[in-house]
Amino acid sequence: MSKTHYCILSIILLIVLSACHSLWTAQTQPASQQDSILILPTLDIPLPNTDFAFLFPEEPKLNKQTSPRKQITENFSSREKNDIAVTDPLLMAEENTMLIDLGLIQKEDYAFPLPGAKVISLYAGRRKHHSGVDLKTHAHDTIISAFDGIVRLAKPYYAYGNVIVVRHYNGLETVYSHNSKNLVKPGDYVKAGQPIALTGRTGRATTEHLHFEVRVNGQHFNPNLVFDLQERKLNNQCLIITKKGNKIAVKPVELMPHQHEGDYSYSPATNKN
Ligand SMILES: [Zn+2]
Repeated sequence: MSKTHYCILSIILLIVLSACHSLWTAQTQPASQQDSILILPTLDIPLPNTDFAFLFPEEPKLNKQTSPRKQITENFSSREKNDIAVTDPLLMAEENTMLIDLGLIQKEDYAFPLPGAKVISLYAGRRKHHSGVDLKTHAHDTIISAFDGIVRLAKPYYAYGNVIVVRHYNGLETVYSHNSKNLVKPGDYVKAGQPIALTGRTGRATTEHLHFEVRVNGQHFNPNLVFDLQERKLNNQCLIITKKGNKIAVKPVELMPHQHEGDYSYSPATNKN
């Protein structure tokens, strides 16, 4: 047999073998797989629209920005113990966006800092640069911590007078200023509703009141995003906090009930002294 004949014969043999193999494979396929092959052409037929997503409002994309209990330390640096506007090295260190879901904070885990108080001056206000909200009841009334946390600063501080800054597990800091007396010191663990100071008019204050600030990563923002100042309770909304360079943007969003579960959660403080 010539070399050419041998080649042709080999090719024919290969074709026959390959055909036999295909036939054998098709016969030994499980029935379901054969069915799935059979229904493939029907995919071209338009199906009725079974996507009901259009019935629901678009959800904010919150899946990755969670609001668990933030890590805080009682070993504050000298700057943290002496300055009000300081960044938190443990906060937003890896991500530029953080989520604080106020709707997940239980009733016992927050308190209005001066119960029964009236608002006498709003954030920004007429002076535009007002860094907090002024709350008034009567002289030497008891100021309480808004959330669980650790006292970061407690001392006289320029125009603030006697002031207290508490760093909270939810990522916020709260500031209580013009106090006649501070009742806690840096490193103290405080619970929501725990007395921390008495109202006064120390520093630059024309009347007895509490100047109350809310801050995140050192930057103050409108306390009315956190508290309903008229009802003196927490707002049922979520704050999306975004770091843009040195600035922090705080955007409130309403969540639907099912969004309070699942990918993120708030853990109230535990394991404290
Ligand atoms: Zn003020």
